[in-house]
Amino acid sequence: MARIGFIGLGNMGLPMAGNLAKAGHSLACFDVAAGAEQAAAAAGLSLAAGLAASVHEAEIVFTMLPAGSDVLDVYEQALGAAPPGALFIDCSTIDVGSARAAHEHAGRAGMAALDAPVSGGVAGARAASLTFMAGGEAEAFLRAEPLLAAMGRRIVHCGGPGAGQAAKICNNLILGVSMIAVSEAFVLAEKLGLAADRLFAVASASSGQCWSLTSYCPVPGLVPASPANSDYKPGFATRLMLKDLNLGAAAASEAGLSLPLARKAAALFSEFAAAGHAEEDFSAIIKGVRSRASAG
Ligand code: NAD
Repeated sequence: MARIGFIGLGNMGLPMAGNLAKAGHSLACFDVAAGAEQAAAAAGLSLAAGLAASVHEAEIVFTMLPAGSDVLDVYEQALGAAPPGALFIDCSTIDVGSARAAHEHAGRAGMAALDAPVSGGVAGARAASLTFMAGGEAEAFLRAEPLLAAMGRRIVHCGGPGAGQAAKICNNLILGVSMIAVSEAFVLAEKLGLAADRLFAVASASSGQCWSLTSYCPVPGLVPASPANSDYKPGFATRLMLKDLNLGAAAASEAGLSLPLARKAAALFSEFAAAGHAEEDFSAIIKGVRSRASAG
């Protein structure tokens, strides 16, 4: 069983840390927010006296933080405080550039590193059914795999440093664009007098089939677990989808690529979030699509 420092006990980090503790590992947890630490203590997790104390004896350090700048800040303090050779695993969704910088800083400090963002949301974190997409050296991946298996069901080594973040950003580009496409199809169907359940019956078994349609349909009443059925309560909040699409747009522009659908999807989610829908599930974008469509 491993000695683990776990930093970032928010919506995702708390249940992930809980699953590592349940698997028998010894955890020293830390979060800057007092409320997050109280929730962790109430869940039975052991808290460290501070960031340095959480990694002081760690063989493995997990981070689950909002953005690239947070990860780099934490690494700056934690890399000097952890024992030599510790493995730093960052599960946050961050930009590829910061992820690669985190690998470099870890390497320079004599530590191993892996970027391992997740898909599956809070429900997946609770149920230990997350998908992990990992980037880093094979040796680091093999060391991490049994720990990731305590929190997830599917663990994919995507390539070298930053490859996990690249996979996450590309996957969510498909998701954001496909949700808008599905929404436009249902709004058009309404206008053409085609009932939503008839479009669903056809498209779910035809070439329009995709996850946004058959697992997460933006029209209520067609798919059992869809957030549309509970007034678009997340799920996966619009602000998080916007964050990931912006990461995709930034990665494309750094790579010198022009991706018009990625750009347009980011603009539509940004407009929708700014109109007061940031905390609704991202499938609520169908409301934005509908009002834009009728505005001409
Ligand atoms: P969250 O905001 O609930 O939690 C982040 C936690 O990090 C907070 O408790 C915050 O206090 C803590 N934190 C921030 N800076 C810190 C620091 N310097 N030291 C210690 N703690 C610090 O966010 P979340 O929903 O748990 O998401 C975490 C990451 O996972 C994000 O990158 C997000 O994009 C990604 N993600 C989220 C979901 C989801 O459905 N929520 C799904 C997949 C991926």
